[in-house]
Amino acid sequence: MRPAILDGLQLRLLRNSVLDPATACWIWTGAHNRKGGYPKLNMRIAGKHQTFYAHRVSYAVFRADIPFGMTLDHTCEQPSCINPMHLEPVSGTLNSSLRWSRRGRSTRNA
Ligand SMILES: [Zn+2]
Repeated sequence: MRPAILDGLQLRLLRNSVLDPATACWIWTGAHNRKGGYPKLNMRIAGKHQTFYAHRVSYAVFRADIPFGMTLDHTCEQPSCINPMHLEPVSGTLNSSLRWSRRGRSTRNA
């Protein structure tokens, strides 16, 4: 049996994002954190307010658990996107180096 909380979360994620028809990105319209501009989702767990990254929640409720210690890489390079199909788990170190090489590439192309 699928816990009802997951369906509630899916609805919340869908209601707080808009589809970009050009990229199929689900652009988060809720709060973002100041550092990095990642989408933020506030949840109440056991009576306490907690903040989670909305894209991580999206991946977890629509696809699968995020392996321990992994961060999610936006394959679409849009930090506000919460489309679970645009997210791939990578190790924290790999993600930073991916970001670094992308920056390098975009500087060269500029
Ligand atoms: Zn995307």
